[in-house]
Amino acid sequence: MASKRSESVKVVVRCRPMSDKEKESKYSKVISMDVSRGAVMLSNPKVSLAEPQREFSFDAVYDWNSKQRDIYDETVRMIIDAVLQGYNGTIFAYGQTGTGKTYTMEGIRTEKEKRGIIPNTFEHIFSHIGQSMNEKYLVRASYLEIYQEEIRDLLSKNHKQRLELKERVDTGVYVKDLTSFVAKSVKEIEHVMTVGNQNRVVGCTDMNEHSSRSHAVFILTVECCCEGADGKDHIRVGKLNLVDLAGSERQSKTGTSGEQFKQAIKINLSLSALGNVISALVDSKATHIPYRDSKLTRLLQDSLGGNAKTVMIANVGPASYNYEETLTTLRYANRAK
Ligand code: ADP
Ligand code: MG
Repeated sequence: MASKRSESVKVVVRCRPMSDKEKESKYSKVISMDVSRGAVMLSNPKVSLAEPQREFSFDAVYDWNSKQRDIYDETVRMIIDAVLQGYNGTIFAYGQTGTGKTYTMEGIRTEKEKRGIIPNTFEHIFSHIGQSMNEKYLVRASYLEIYQEEIRDLLSKNHKQRLELKERVDTGVYVKDLTSFVAKSVKEIEHVMTVGNQNRVVGCTDMNEHSSRSHAVFILTVECCCEGADGKDHIRVGKLNLVDLAGSERQSKTGTSGEQFKQAIKINLSLSALGNVISALVDSKATHIPYRDSKLTRLLQDSLGGNAKTVMIANVGPASYNYEETLTTLRYANRAK
């Protein structure tokens, strides 16, 4: 069973292009990629030629020339197909703030070729449903964020309310009182997403700070009712979690107030717990999967491991000043492989 387990977790790395600002400042590029081998090479800008490059290999790598569509077709599509078949799946965007997590997950919705994983998923699901003949589908969407280990429903009118994780023997872990909307078309589900994104901003004094420190989780449930060989109706349910994680950058621990310090620890908690869960899932010798260590991993428990399919997209920037953070991200991703 050991090898089966690791097949269900894929890790890919994406490097965004140099930004105009980085080009202007003439930063050197510390990343190179060999797409055919799935390899990333990182060179330390401070060390002379004496130090060889570090090389990491992954299930796939996407360089600055990669298209949103490539990632979708090669890495995401199969997971959505599995969800339509009744499996659970999770797609994570991991990385330092500014490396392209939100670009990868959402992209630019108004430009077709720049649309990210979430809008492409919506298209995929509803076009599949539109073509199906003998099956009836019900798609529901929820949207929440985890900020400092607290869960907030992004679709609820009550912005202040914090939701609790509960557990039931039959259905497992769930979020009590979480709103869910039935969506019948791409347009409807896009609207749900837009409302959630707007609610995310409400009450934030600094949206950039907030979004870099919270995990946004869009949850799609796809229920399918079809007639089995026995002539009876069968229902299968697949669940998909689309997760734009908090920025992985190290929170500075010096000179911060008590509140900021506590917050720094909590942000790192969910990300490190996730790293531990994924590395335990891919380690054939691991006997215990530490789901209970954070809200995020508990929430996603039934969609990580087992029959579920997981993709982690680790995002990095190419410029030299990000060297340390890029190395940390590649190590984290490497452990999750
Ligand atoms: P994050 O969510 O990780 O903080 P963003 O997705 O907001 O990062 O990306 C930071 C900036 O870089 C944005 O302006 C975004 O449009 C741009 N960007 C990120 N990835 C790419 C890419 N692959 N191609 C072009 N621009 C990108
Ligand atoms: Mg972002």
